Amino acid sequence: MTLERVAPAVAAAVAAVKEDRLWRRHLQIAEIGATGRGGVNRQALTPEDAEARRRVLGWAAARGFEASVDPIGNLFIRRAGRSPTARPIVSGSHLDTQPTGGNFDGVFGVLAALEVLEAVDDAGVETVHPLELAIWTNEEGARFQPTTMGSAVFAGALALAAALATVDAHGVGVEQALAQTLKAAPVVNRRAFRFPMTAYLEAHIEQGPVLEAAGKTIGVVSGIQGLRWFRVEVTGEEAHAGTTPRARRRDALLAAVDMVRALRDLMLDATDTARFTVGRFEVRPNSPNTVPGQVLFTIDFRHPDGTVLSRLGDEVAAVCRAHAGGCAVDVIETLNSPPTEFDPRICELIQAAAARQGLPHMRIVSGATHDAKYMAGLCPTGMIFVPCERGISHNEGERASAADLAAGARLLAEVMLRLN
Ligand SMILES: [Zn+2]
Repeated sequence: MTLERVAPAVAAAVAAVKEDRLWRRHLQIAEIGATGRGGVNRQALTPEDAEARRRVLGWAAARGFEASVDPIGNLFIRRAGRSPTARPIVSGSHLDTQPTGGNFDGVFGVLAALEVLEAVDDAGVETVHPLELAIWTNEEGARFQPTTMGSAVFAGALALAAALATVDAHGVGVEQALAQTLKAAPVVNRRAFRFPMTAYLEAHIEQGPVLEAAGKTIGVVSGIQGLRWFRVEVTGEEAHAGTTPRARRRDALLAAVDMVRALRDLMLDATDTARFTVGRFEVRPNSPNTVPGQVLFTIDFRHPDGTVLSRLGDEVAAVCRAHAGGCAVDVIETLNSPPTEFDPRICELIQAAAARQGLPHMRIVSGATHDAKYMAGLCPTGMIFVPCERGISHNEGERASAADLAAGARLLAEVMLRLN
């Protein structure tokens, strides 16, 4: 389409985005798995997840949008284009949540894409390419690990058989839970993995404090920072707390504390860009009067710059060994995910659309991981962030404003149509 023909269609679709419809739907999905403390527990492939899927499928069916499902349960909802062979322009996110999750993480990206499909429909705009909403299975990874399971399987980064064989803490497998979910929220049409897409877009709340602090409505996401996980096992010697002199001790806890402190210093940067977290710390035998013989701790280290991620991550083992204080130390890397860079042309498109719509915006790197990470390897991909109150997320107190959510949906509408 030429620009002159695009502009009126874009304007009509953007004007057809309805803030109240979008907001009402957030409230309706928030009822499913509501905890009574303002949040939700709607973990992947539970009856609550199925109910949320059923509700979105119902809204889509009322419009005559066609739904399909792939073998890991990713849902696709299509507003047909003029060309049946044109690759779809896809946007989506996830409906599953953390056990004490909020009402916007994931849900916003799903409802924003649905809102775009409906707004385009209401405006009577005909597209060449189909517009599709994607709902990825098990993004959160709370019940079944790993996170972003559905998009990883879709992209071929995780084998379907391995995903289906994953069990939760109660021994229930993905295969069984998925079958129950699809029985409760049935979809007839089957979809293959890695079907070609024109582009993939994901709208999401920021889950961090940057946009709010900067007074911006829109984050033009340039990429997702890289992540490395380590498991550190420190082995000393158990000894009597009352009788063992300092020189005789091999205290695994004191060694581990020295390691953590040295690692924190290693990761310290003036710009506060590196993210270093020791989230698990286990002491054995964990008795008040025994010198600890063994400590296990984990490291979650993130950085947007692949060079820094490599350099500092590669120093972790040496730093631990240097502070072992007579103990043995084993450092095992359990995950190495390089940074994702989104397509610069998509970033430009989002930025230009935000400027045209008069939305205060800035470039931002995502601190959290998203399904868009796997789509970036398959097609031109980008993300749109909107602020969340005080950056609070993965928390029942997660909040976002109806106006910001609608602004994100309007921007998404324009970008999807300009890709057409
Ligand atoms: Zn999310």
